[in-house]
Amino acid sequence: MNHGRALVTGGAGFLGSHLCDALLAEGYSVIAVDNLLTGRAANLEHLKTEPQFEFRQLDICDPFDCGKVDYVFHFASPASPVDYSIHGIATLKVGSLGTFHALELARQYSAKYLISSTSECYGDPLEHPQRETYWGHVNPIGPRSVYDESKRFSEAVTMAYFRYHKVDTRIVRIFNTYGPRMQLNDGRVIPNFMKQALRGEDLTVYGDGSQTRSFCYVSDEIEGFLRLAKSSEHEPVNIGNPNEFTILECARRVLAVTGSSSKIRHQALPEDDPRQRRPDISKARKLLGWEPKIDLENGLRMSLDYFRKAVAEERVARA
Ligand code: UDP
Repeated sequence: MNHGRALVTGGAGFLGSHLCDALLAEGYSVIAVDNLLTGRAANLEHLKTEPQFEFRQLDICDPFDCGKVDYVFHFASPASPVDYSIHGIATLKVGSLGTFHALELARQYSAKYLISSTSECYGDPLEHPQRETYWGHVNPIGPRSVYDESKRFSEAVTMAYFRYHKVDTRIVRIFNTYGPRMQLNDGRVIPNFMKQALRGEDLTVYGDGSQTRSFCYVSDEIEGFLRLAKSSEHEPVNIGNPNEFTILECARRVLAVTGSSSKIRHQALPEDDPRQRRPDISKARKLLGWEPKIDLENGLRMSLDYFRKAVAEERVARA
């Protein structure tokens, strides 16, 4: 059964590549585009011989056309604090110019559209847990602003195309997601801790580790995207796992799952690091019948093989 042709921008990224797999499994033919700034061709290597799949290396900050599509999934953007602080201008450009170009394509082909937004829209939240109705507490000029404001702007552009041009849009607000295909040097907490634990190095906990995050395993997250894509909800929907952990607890879980005897070492807390993050997923539950199934311990176990292999490959490459 063919559902039509889906475009995934940022298709070589961690989430983008998992989304390509899921769309192919659903019966779409898929075209992935990516400029490979933070995405990796290796994430799509397994799709090389898949007849319903195509990859094009291009930068969506320039106008582009890849032929008629029925669905646009706009996922292009650096997404880890390390990546977006290195690539600040590119992050702002892909959220602004890239979003316009992705929406223009959806408009031109009357395609449905879904954009990956983020819990960063809530900034360092004063409301806890965060509901979609919360407008956020964001520093517009701080080190995280290149990402936060890029995503807030891209939500505004998306709603404008819905209101003014009647494009059939959807917005997903993604909370911390983890799993296979995250890059070892991505800088986010789970790849950092997994890599450190498997190498026998100290786990670097920033600050006292009392700040919280709520971690969602990638397959749960992708299922949420697919359900939202099929819905007719135009306003943002949180997709994330509401089980909240301190970063110190997260470090302990990684040590337990990896069986590592690494120690914990505290380092300076980055500027504007949000104190707490936990999605209120009542809307996703009610609207999409969606609920995450995989808890942190199981998700870490399911990621272990990937991280082991990545650490081993890195060791060989360095030898
Ligand atoms: N963090 C940490 N050690 C690391 C990487 C991150 O303690 O090696 C902390 C970081 O300060 C933040 C949390 O883990 O409080 C989540 O960071 P991440 O970069 O994964 O994502 P964020 O939710 O901040 O965008």
